[in-house]
Amino acid sequence: MLDALCSRSHGGNGLYGEKCISLLKDKYGFLSVFLTPSCTAAMEMGALLANLSAGDEVILPSYTFSSTANAIVLRGARPVFCDIDPNTMNINVELIEPLITERTRMIAPIDYAGIPCEMDAILEIARKRELMVMQDAAQSLHAYYKNRPSGALSPLAAFSFHESKNVSCGEGGALIVNQPDLVERAGFLQEKGTDRSLVLRGQKHKYSWVDIGSSFLLSDVLAAMLLAQLEAVELIMSKRSRITRAYQALFSPYEKRGCVRLPKPPAHTQINHHAFFVIFDSADNRQRFLSLTNVKDIHPYIGYVPLHSSPMGRKWGYRPEDVPVTEDIGQRIVRLPFYTDLADQGLDYCLIEMSAVIRQMYGF
Ligand SMILES: *Cc1c(COP(=O)(O)O)cnc(C)c1O
Repeated sequence: MLDALCSRSHGGNGLYGEKCISLLKDKYGFLSVFLTPSCTAAMEMGALLANLSAGDEVILPSYTFSSTANAIVLRGARPVFCDIDPNTMNINVELIEPLITERTRMIAPIDYAGIPCEMDAILEIARKRELMVMQDAAQSLHAYYKNRPSGALSPLAAFSFHESKNVSCGEGGALIVNQPDLVERAGFLQEKGTDRSLVLRGQKHKYSWVDIGSSFLLSDVLAAMLLAQLEAVELIMSKRSRITRAYQALFSPYEKRGCVRLPKPPAHTQINHHAFFVIFDSADNRQRFLSLTNVKDIHPYIGYVPLHSSPMGRKWGYRPEDVPVTEDIGQRIVRLPFYTDLADQGLDYCLIEMSAVIRQMYGF
């Protein structure tokens, strides 16, 4: 980071940014990578690139972060909320086609907790109905779907390097553009609607205003931090996998007895150990678990408040019962404490205390 700072060329698309881009392309086979200030910004850039406009409809799960929906809504398009599969918390692909109308332009699935969504089925629907796919892959760097890296399969995908993610530079993200005819324009949108990208590649002397756009760039100081994190991705994954295994072992006896339900990543996926969730048998038991763990200074959290029944979702005319599985599970799910260093310090304490809490709750 000091090197980037002292190079006096620490804006966007600098030396360290280029190194991150090469690493991501080589390791995961992405066609092109644009480093952005956040995943939120990457999806806004993706929505511009896809030419979403007023009156268009986009199908997305209600169980996601506000940023997925905002990228759509900021273009004047309508979010159409689809229900989820409780095994993964990802979009239920069986429910997508009935939501398609003549206004549908895009499907925007997410990979919840780093479990890849059913990309083959989604891409097949998109191909048949001529829809764009933009994957919110904020949580799923280094996860694999049928041995193919998350983010490599859909035309557009967005990653987050926020401090809460596996690989982080504080605030940062990337838009992956895998569709060749969109790559050049993505460069224009990222650089304030100019063709500066052509100047950087030596194809032009002076850049000019050629398109709409914004400043979707990551400073090279942050790119330097990101590069160090990306180079450590295997170490990060192996530490985090210990947390997954420990939580799985702690809760599986209770799943067998029907008290909780655990994540069920399909056999053809490889998770990246981003998060671990537990679905309790009732909203009351979730609340008891949260209260009892908080007393021990352990702070699991409730995950997303479903978008369709949030204040903005209601403004779009949705009622809680419109997306019933999401509404139900959203009130019973808990995300357990999960960060890389927990594997080295604090995990044993969490396991002992949480084990005591669930024994107290269920009486065995
Ligand atoms: C973290 C996250 C985001 C936002 O990422 P930022 O980089 O903070 O903009 C968006 N979508 C999902 C699913 C996320 O988990």
